[in-house]
Amino acid sequence: MSIASEVLKPQATQVRAAYVHVPFCVHRCGYCDFTVIAGRDDLIGAYLDCLGKELQTKLARPQLVDTLFLGGGTPSYLPPADLQTLLNLLHRWLPRKTGSEFSIECNPDGLTTERIELLAAAGINRVSLGVQSFQTAHLQTLERSHTPDQVQGVVHELRRAGCTNISLDLIFGVPGQTLSEWEETLAAAVALEPRHISTYGLTYEKGTSFWSRLQKDQIRPVPEELERDMYALAMTRLPECGYLQYELSNFAQPGFECRHNQVYWRAEPYFGFGPGAAEFLNGERRVNHRSVTGWIHRIEQGQSPTQEVEQLDDDLLSREAVMVGLRQTVGIPLAGYRTRYGHEVRDLAPQAYDRFLADGLLEEAEGRVQLTFSGRFLADSVMAEFF
Ligand code: SF4
Repeated sequence: MSIASEVLKPQATQVRAAYVHVPFCVHRCGYCDFTVIAGRDDLIGAYLDCLGKELQTKLARPQLVDTLFLGGGTPSYLPPADLQTLLNLLHRWLPRKTGSEFSIECNPDGLTTERIELLAAAGINRVSLGVQSFQTAHLQTLERSHTPDQVQGVVHELRRAGCTNISLDLIFGVPGQTLSEWEETLAAAVALEPRHISTYGLTYEKGTSFWSRLQKDQIRPVPEELERDMYALAMTRLPECGYLQYELSNFAQPGFECRHNQVYWRAEPYFGFGPGAAEFLNGERRVNHRSVTGWIHRIEQGQSPTQEVEQLDDDLLSREAVMVGLRQTVGIPLAGYRTRYGHEVRDLAPQAYDRFLADGLLEEAEGRVQLTFSGRFLADSVMAEFF
């Protein structure tokens, strides 16, 4: 693949990626604004029936994919028999090419040996574990139900079952967290030798209970400077330990970058199934109903589960290409961008572009433009100027 096509794949590309959303969780964590439902296990059967219908209606025939991502929610929360039904559905409708990446998001608690063996037998070869912290107090603040000890046991069991491509998700900026505690969490993650580590700063999204508590002064975010120091620590410590930063929040041992997420960041097309799932096909972004009951109801009534459709014209596509291109540390290939969109990246916001270069937030090197180390702290503000 040429550098030009690496970031800016034309839209006519064959669809080779699929995302399936499993919305069930044991509890809705206070900071979570994903499409999640807790305490409604009675809906699992209807969910699986409707997912089967959505797959059949949208695909009509099995679609060979190169990356398949089972996200949530907590896919591994499904009881083993239901998990097997889900995996059977995917095997039927979304068979994988040889060498494909088949990822699942799991939480450490409830990931029993039985479930792990089901996942391994179904060909899942990448497991993303929602670890978040190795300190019990911070796990409690985040309302997570596992303990640090469980993580080690689960990682061991996954390896024993042959799932060696393990990713750990971590959160920094937890209220009350110190820099040294974050350092300990990073060290504990590295000690488990996963292939991939993701680090996210805690955010307070409208509609979450953390947001309400923030409005009522019941929760105190860490100071901005400390949050910046935590991000800086991840960006220096993880590469020192062999995890190269390839995206704003993602670090991997060489060759273990998440291929499915790269489909998003390269603006390549993908299918999406399940409540709240997005898909990007033929230059059109479609998003399913976020309400789980709404999504089920529509499918049971023979209606489309799609809630939003957005046709992305070339102008919008070119701006999105800048957004997703700057998220990646390799940045945007300038010549490839020009060829694909007929203008320069700079043309979208000439004054801001020059200012970011002068201020050292963007840099041009070897025919590409990318965020600098300093620029990564201000990524949202930089990218907003191009939109
Ligand atoms: S486990 Fe993850 S998806 Fe489920 S509620 Fe918590 S943060 Fe949200």
